Amino acid sequence: MSGVHRDRVKRRRPSFQRAMQLACAALFNGYAAGFGRGRIFTGPTKMVCVPVLNCYSCPGALGACPIGALQTALGARHHVPFYVLGTLMLFGAALGRAVCGLMCPFGLVQDLLHKIPVPKRKVPGRIDRPARYVKYGVLALLVVGLPALLGAGGGVADPLFCKYLCPAGTLEGGIPLLLANPSLRQAAGLLFGWKTLVLIAVLALSAAVHRPFCKYLCPLGAFYALFNRFSFYQLRLDGDKCVRCGQCERACPMDVEVTKNIRSPECIRCGRCKAVCPTGAISSGFATGPEAAAAGEP
Ligand code: SF4
Ligand code: SF4
Repeated sequence: MSGVHRDRVKRRRPSFQRAMQLACAALFNGYAAGFGRGRIFTGPTKMVCVPVLNCYSCPGALGACPIGALQTALGARHHVPFYVLGTLMLFGAALGRAVCGLMCPFGLVQDLLHKIPVPKRKVPGRIDRPARYVKYGVLALLVVGLPALLGAGGGVADPLFCKYLCPAGTLEGGIPLLLANPSLRQAAGLLFGWKTLVLIAVLALSAAVHRPFCKYLCPLGAFYALFNRFSFYQLRLDGDKCVRCGQCERACPMDVEVTKNIRSPECIRCGRCKAVCPTGAISSGFATGPEAAAAGEP
Protein backbone atom coordinates (compact mmCIF):
# COMPACT_ATOMS: atom_id res chain seq x y z
CA MET A 1 0.00 0.00 0.00
CA SER A 2 1.34 3.45 -0.88
CA GLY A 3 1.87 6.08 1.83
CA VAL A 4 -0.95 8.18 0.44
CA HIS A 5 -3.37 5.23 0.63
CA ARG A 6 -2.26 4.38 4.16
CA ASP A 7 -2.93 7.96 5.26
CA ARG A 8 -6.37 7.94 3.69
CA VAL A 9 -7.25 4.70 5.45
CA LYS A 10 -6.12 6.13 8.79
CA ARG A 11 -7.95 9.39 8.30
CA ARG A 12 -11.32 7.90 7.40
CA ARG A 13 -13.00 6.46 10.45
CA PRO A 14 -16.58 5.22 10.77
CA SER A 15 -17.33 8.04 13.24
CA PHE A 16 -20.81 8.47 11.76
CA GLN A 17 -21.59 4.88 12.74
CA ARG A 18 -20.41 5.36 16.34
CA ALA A 19 -22.24 8.70 16.70
CA MET A 20 -25.47 7.11 15.43
CA GLN A 21 -25.09 4.09 17.72
CA LEU A 22 -24.51 6.25 20.81
CA ALA A 23 -27.36 8.62 19.95
CA CYS A 24 -29.81 5.73 19.40
CA ALA A 25 -28.73 3.93 22.60
CA ALA A 26 -29.32 7.15 24.56
CA LEU A 27 -32.61 7.87 22.78
CA PHE A 28 -34.09 4.40 23.29
CA ASN A 29 -32.93 4.26 26.94
CA GLY A 30 -33.47 7.86 27.95
CA TYR A 31 -35.17 7.20 31.31
CA ALA A 32 -31.92 7.47 33.29
CA ALA A 33 -33.72 7.65 36.66
CA GLY A 34 -34.96 4.10 36.13
CA PHE A 35 -31.46 2.69 36.64
CA GLY A 36 -31.21 4.28 40.09
CA ARG A 37 -34.73 3.31 41.13
CA GLY A 38 -34.52 -0.21 39.72
CA ARG A 39 -37.95 0.19 38.14
CA ILE A 40 -38.98 0.14 34.51
CA PHE A 41 -40.50 3.15 32.77
CA THR A 42 -44.27 2.83 32.32
CA GLY A 43 -45.13 6.09 30.53
CA PRO A 44 -47.14 6.35 27.30
CA THR A 45 -44.12 5.90 24.97
CA LYS A 46 -43.83 2.33 26.26
CA MET A 47 -46.62 1.52 23.78
CA VAL A 48 -44.31 2.47 20.90
CA CYS A 49 -42.07 -0.16 19.32
CA VAL A 50 -38.45 0.82 18.75
CA PRO A 51 -36.92 -0.72 15.60
CA VAL A 52 -34.03 -2.43 17.44
CA LEU A 53 -33.45 -5.20 20.00
CA ASN A 54 -33.80 -3.14 23.17
CA CYS A 55 -35.26 -4.88 26.19
CA TYR A 56 -38.67 -3.68 27.41
CA SER A 57 -37.48 -4.43 30.98
CA CYS A 58 -34.38 -2.24 30.74
CA PRO A 59 -34.93 0.38 33.48
CA GLY A 60 -34.08 3.13 30.99
CA ALA A 61 -36.15 1.86 28.05
CA LEU A 62 -38.68 4.39 26.80
CA GLY A 63 -40.24 2.03 24.24
CA ALA A 64 -40.99 -1.63 23.59
CA CYS A 65 -38.74 -4.19 21.92
CA PRO A 66 -40.36 -5.39 18.67
CA ILE A 67 -39.22 -8.99 19.16
CA GLY A 68 -40.75 -9.09 22.65
CA ALA A 69 -43.93 -7.41 21.37
CA LEU A 70 -44.17 -9.85 18.45
CA GLN A 71 -43.95 -12.90 20.73
CA THR A 72 -46.40 -11.44 23.26
CA ALA A 73 -48.98 -10.64 20.59
CA LEU A 74 -48.61 -13.99 18.80
CA GLY A 75 -48.74 -15.83 22.11
CA ALA A 76 -52.09 -14.24 22.98
CA ARG A 77 -54.39 -16.16 20.67
CA HIS A 78 -56.63 -13.34 19.45
CA HIS A 79 -53.82 -10.93 18.58
CA VAL A 80 -52.40 -10.40 15.09
CA PRO A 81 -49.39 -8.06 15.56
CA PHE A 82 -50.15 -5.76 12.60
CA TYR A 83 -48.62 -2.75 14.35
CA VAL A 84 -45.33 -4.50 15.20
CA LEU A 85 -45.02 -6.11 11.77
CA GLY A 86 -45.84 -2.80 10.09
CA THR A 87 -43.15 -1.00 12.09
CA LEU A 88 -40.54 -3.64 11.27
CA MET A 89 -41.46 -3.71 7.58
CA LEU A 90 -41.31 0.07 7.39
CA PHE A 91 -37.78 0.18 8.83
CA GLY A 92 -36.75 -2.89 6.81
CA ALA A 93 -37.97 -1.38 3.53
CA ALA A 94 -36.31 1.95 4.26
CA LEU A 95 -33.01 0.85 5.79
CA GLY A 96 -32.57 -2.94 5.68
CA ARG A 97 -29.87 -4.02 8.10
CA ALA A 98 -28.60 -0.45 8.51
CA VAL A 99 -30.80 -0.69 11.62
CA CYS A 100 -28.35 -3.34 12.93
CA GLY A 101 -25.22 -1.46 11.95
CA LEU A 102 -26.22 2.04 12.97
CA MET A 103 -29.01 1.91 15.54
CA CYS A 104 -28.91 -1.25 17.67
CA PRO A 105 -27.52 -0.84 21.23
CA PHE A 106 -26.58 -4.53 21.46
CA GLY A 107 -24.64 -4.16 18.20
CA LEU A 108 -22.79 -1.27 19.83
CA VAL A 109 -21.95 -3.46 22.85
CA GLN A 110 -20.48 -6.12 20.56
CA ASP A 111 -18.53 -3.54 18.53
CA LEU A 112 -16.98 -2.08 21.70
CA LEU A 113 -16.07 -5.52 23.08
CA HIS A 114 -14.33 -6.34 19.82
CA LYS A 115 -11.91 -3.51 20.57
CA ILE A 116 -10.46 -5.50 23.51
CA PRO A 117 -6.93 -6.45 22.43
CA VAL A 118 -7.23 -10.24 22.31
CA PRO A 119 -6.36 -12.35 19.25
CA LYS A 120 -9.09 -12.01 16.63
CA ARG A 121 -10.61 -15.12 15.08
CA LYS A 122 -12.47 -15.85 11.87
CA VAL A 123 -14.96 -18.69 12.18
CA PRO A 124 -14.03 -21.38 9.59
CA GLY A 125 -16.32 -21.33 6.55
CA ARG A 126 -17.63 -24.86 7.13
CA ILE A 127 -19.03 -23.71 10.49
CA ASP A 128 -19.75 -20.09 9.65
CA ARG A 129 -21.88 -20.68 6.53
CA PRO A 130 -24.47 -23.05 8.05
CA ALA A 131 -24.40 -21.19 11.39
CA ARG A 132 -25.60 -17.98 9.64
CA TYR A 133 -28.95 -19.70 9.04
CA VAL A 134 -29.51 -20.35 12.77
CA LYS A 135 -30.89 -16.81 13.25
CA TYR A 136 -33.66 -17.55 10.70
CA GLY A 137 -34.52 -20.65 12.73
CA VAL A 138 -34.63 -18.58 15.93
CA LEU A 139 -37.01 -16.12 14.23
CA ALA A 140 -39.22 -18.82 12.70
CA LEU A 141 -39.37 -21.09 15.76
CA LEU A 142 -38.81 -19.18 19.01
CA VAL A 143 -40.27 -15.81 17.98
CA VAL A 144 -43.10 -16.74 15.58
CA GLY A 145 -43.89 -20.45 15.31
CA LEU A 146 -43.92 -21.77 18.86
CA PRO A 147 -45.51 -18.73 20.56
CA ALA A 148 -48.27 -18.71 17.89
CA LEU A 149 -48.79 -22.47 18.23
CA LEU A 150 -48.87 -22.43 22.02
CA GLY A 151 -51.05 -19.31 22.06
CA ALA A 152 -53.53 -20.92 19.65
CA GLY A 153 -54.08 -23.68 22.21
CA GLY A 154 -55.64 -21.17 24.61
CA GLY A 155 -54.21 -18.92 27.28
CA VAL A 156 -51.07 -16.83 26.79
CA ALA A 157 -47.78 -18.40 25.69
CA ASP A 158 -44.42 -17.35 27.12
CA PRO A 159 -42.20 -15.13 24.96
CA LEU A 160 -39.73 -17.98 24.41
CA PHE A 161 -36.84 -16.02 22.88
CA CYS A 162 -36.95 -13.41 25.66
CA LYS A 163 -37.34 -16.00 28.37
CA TYR A 164 -34.69 -18.52 27.34
CA LEU A 165 -32.18 -16.88 25.02
CA CYS A 166 -32.02 -13.12 24.60
CA PRO A 167 -28.65 -11.89 25.95
CA ALA A 168 -29.63 -8.26 25.35
CA GLY A 169 -32.53 -8.74 27.78
CA THR A 170 -30.23 -10.16 30.44
CA LEU A 171 -27.73 -7.34 30.03
CA GLU A 172 -30.16 -4.44 29.73
CA GLY A 173 -33.06 -5.71 31.84
CA GLY A 174 -32.25 -8.66 34.09
CA ILE A 175 -28.92 -7.54 35.54
CA PRO A 176 -29.78 -3.86 36.25
CA LEU A 177 -33.08 -4.84 37.87
CA LEU A 178 -31.42 -7.48 40.02
CA LEU A 179 -28.65 -5.09 41.07
CA ALA A 180 -31.18 -2.52 42.24
CA ASN A 181 -33.68 -4.92 43.87
CA PRO A 182 -32.48 -7.26 46.65
CA SER A 183 -35.82 -9.11 46.64
CA LEU A 184 -35.44 -9.95 42.95
CA ARG A 185 -31.89 -11.18 43.62
CA GLN A 186 -33.21 -13.70 46.11
CA ALA A 187 -35.82 -14.90 43.62
CA ALA A 188 -33.32 -15.36 40.74
CA GLY A 189 -33.10 -19.05 39.99
CA LEU A 190 -31.75 -21.54 37.48
CA LEU A 191 -33.29 -19.76 34.50
CA PHE A 192 -31.45 -16.55 35.31
CA GLY A 193 -28.25 -18.61 35.72
CA TRP A 194 -28.75 -20.11 32.24
CA LYS A 195 -29.40 -16.70 30.69
CA THR A 196 -26.32 -15.27 32.37
CA LEU A 197 -24.27 -18.09 30.87
CA VAL A 198 -25.64 -17.27 27.40
CA LEU A 199 -24.81 -13.61 27.94
CA ILE A 200 -21.26 -14.35 29.11
CA ALA A 201 -20.69 -16.66 26.12
CA VAL A 202 -21.90 -13.99 23.65
CA LEU A 203 -19.89 -11.19 25.29
CA ALA A 204 -16.71 -13.28 25.53
CA LEU A 205 -17.03 -14.40 21.93
CA SER A 206 -17.57 -10.80 20.82
CA ALA A 207 -14.03 -9.91 21.88
CA ALA A 208 -12.56 -12.42 19.42
CA VAL A 209 -15.24 -12.68 16.71
CA HIS A 210 -16.97 -9.63 15.31
CA ARG A 211 -20.71 -9.41 16.12
CA PRO A 212 -21.35 -13.13 16.77
CA PHE A 213 -24.89 -12.50 18.00
CA CYS A 214 -25.79 -10.52 14.86
CA LYS A 215 -24.24 -13.13 12.59
CA TYR A 216 -25.71 -16.26 14.13
CA LEU A 217 -28.57 -15.68 16.57
CA CYS A 218 -30.42 -12.40 16.28
CA PRO A 219 -34.01 -12.86 15.04
CA LEU A 220 -34.33 -9.15 14.30
CA GLY A 221 -31.18 -9.28 12.14
CA ALA A 222 -32.77 -12.23 10.32
CA PHE A 223 -35.95 -10.21 9.71
CA TYR A 224 -34.13 -7.15 8.37
CA ALA A 225 -31.81 -9.36 6.28
CA LEU A 226 -34.86 -10.29 4.19
CA PHE A 227 -35.09 -6.61 3.11
CA ASN A 228 -31.42 -5.94 2.37
CA ARG A 229 -31.66 -6.53 -1.37
CA PHE A 230 -34.76 -4.36 -1.77
CA SER A 231 -34.43 -1.57 0.78
CA PHE A 232 -34.26 2.07 -0.33
CA TYR A 233 -30.98 2.59 1.51
CA GLN A 234 -28.25 0.75 -0.40
CA LEU A 235 -24.51 0.47 -0.81
CA ARG A 236 -23.21 0.70 -4.36
CA LEU A 237 -19.94 -0.44 -5.91
CA ASP A 238 -18.49 1.35 -8.92
CA GLY A 239 -16.71 -1.45 -10.80
CA ASP A 240 -14.72 1.07 -12.88
CA LYS A 241 -13.16 2.62 -9.78
CA CYS A 242 -12.50 -0.66 -7.93
CA VAL A 243 -8.87 -1.85 -8.14
CA ARG A 244 -9.55 -5.18 -6.36
CA CYS A 245 -7.25 -4.37 -3.45
CA GLY A 246 -9.50 -6.29 -1.01
CA GLN A 247 -9.31 -3.67 1.75
CA CYS A 248 -13.09 -3.45 1.97
CA GLU A 249 -13.43 -7.18 2.59
CA ARG A 250 -10.67 -7.19 5.20
CA ALA A 251 -12.41 -4.32 7.05
CA CYS A 252 -15.89 -5.86 6.92
CA PRO A 253 -17.07 -7.03 10.36
CA MET A 254 -19.66 -9.33 8.78
CA ASP A 255 -17.23 -10.97 6.31
CA VAL A 256 -19.25 -9.86 3.29
CA GLU A 257 -17.71 -10.46 -0.15
CA VAL A 258 -18.07 -6.77 -0.90
CA THR A 259 -16.92 -6.82 -4.52
CA LYS A 260 -19.14 -9.79 -5.40
CA ASN A 261 -22.25 -9.27 -3.29
CA ILE A 262 -22.55 -5.77 -1.90
CA ARG A 263 -26.28 -6.30 -1.23
CA SER A 264 -25.64 -9.38 0.88
CA PRO A 265 -28.24 -10.14 3.58
CA GLU A 266 -25.32 -10.17 6.01
CA CYS A 267 -24.33 -6.54 5.36
CA ILE A 268 -25.24 -4.31 8.30
CA ARG A 269 -24.45 -1.09 6.35
CA CYS A 270 -21.88 -0.04 8.91
CA GLY A 271 -19.93 1.86 6.25
CA ARG A 272 -16.49 0.48 7.12
CA CYS A 273 -15.87 -0.79 3.58
CA LYS A 274 -16.72 2.64 2.20
CA ALA A 275 -14.46 4.30 4.79
CA VAL A 276 -11.38 2.24 3.90
CA CYS A 277 -11.80 2.03 0.12
CA PRO A 278 -8.79 3.92 -1.29
CA THR A 279 -10.45 4.77 -4.61
CA GLY A 280 -13.91 5.84 -3.42
CA ALA A 281 -15.49 2.94 -5.33
CA ILE A 282 -18.17 2.39 -2.68
CA SER A 283 -21.00 4.83 -2.11
CA SER A 284 -24.19 4.68 -0.09
CA GLY A 285 -27.53 6.42 -0.02
CA PHE A 286 -31.22 6.15 -0.71
CA ALA A 287 -32.10 4.74 -4.14
CA THR A 288 -34.59 6.81 -6.11
CA GLY A 289 -36.44 6.51 -9.46
CA PRO A 290 -35.11 3.80 -11.83
CA GLU A 291 -32.38 2.95 -9.30
CA ALA A 292 -35.03 2.02 -6.73
CA ALA A 293 -36.91 -0.09 -9.28
CA ALA A 294 -33.71 -2.01 -10.09
CA ALA A 295 -32.80 -2.47 -6.44
CA GLY A 296 -34.06 -6.07 -6.31
CA GLU A 297 -32.04 -7.16 -9.34
CA PRO A 298 -28.93 -9.19 -8.60
S1 SF4 B 1 -20.15 -4.75 3.39
FE1 SF4 B 1 -19.44 -2.75 4.18
S2 SF4 B 1 -21.24 -1.79 5.11
FE2 SF4 B 1 -21.69 -4.01 4.86
S3 SF4 B 1 -21.14 -4.91 6.82
FE3 SF4 B 1 -19.35 -5.08 5.48
S4 SF4 B 1 -18.11 -3.22 5.90
FE4 SF4 B 1 -20.16 -2.89 6.77
S1 SF4 C 1 -14.17 -1.59 -3.45
FE1 SF4 C 1 -12.42 -0.30 -2.83
S2 SF4 C 1 -11.51 -1.36 -1.08
FE2 SF4 C 1 -12.87 -2.87 -2.10
S3 SF4 C 1 -11.51 -3.96 -3.51
FE3 SF4 C 1 -12.41 -2.27 -4.67
S4 SF4 C 1 -10.91 -0.59 -4.47
FE4 SF4 C 1 -10.39 -2.08 -2.87
